[in-house]
Amino acid sequence: MSGSRHLRPEVRLPSAMASEILNHCQSVRPEEACGLVAADSKGEPVAIIPVTNALHSPVRYQMETREQFDAMKRLRREGWSLWAIFHSHPHSEPAPSPTDIRLAFYPDCHYLIAGLGTDPPVIRCFTIVDGKVSESPLRLIS
Ligand SMILES: [Zn+2]
Repeated sequence: MSGSRHLRPEVRLPSAMASEILNHCQSVRPEEACGLVAADSKGEPVAIIPVTNALHSPVRYQMETREQFDAMKRLRREGWSLWAIFHSHPHSEPAPSPTDIRLAFYPDCHYLIAGLGTDPPVIRCFTIVDGKVSESPLRLIS
């Protein structure tokens, strides 16, 4: 069944956290924004941790090393896990670019991409394993 579309389970994100991601992404526009989403011990998303884009680029991102390290330390301290990595596409479609796919090293993590080129902006959710991209429907909950 190669080439078939795999229907993945819906992913739920509190709408307040989606707003937090979008507000951060808008605040650094036209640069790409990036950061982490932590989950609690039950696997529910619990915190947004923005990280500076060290490249300060409108088309690429790389998390500032020290901030990323501190964010991971905070996760461990709180007993959280890494739930998602988010970044923004200030102008282009919120779909993983070839670079996003090549640099996706966390198969167990969601990749959230915020597309700011549309009104309203949208967030889409992907899993990237060995260069293979699957999308999960993202449901915003209250
Ligand atoms: Zn990207």
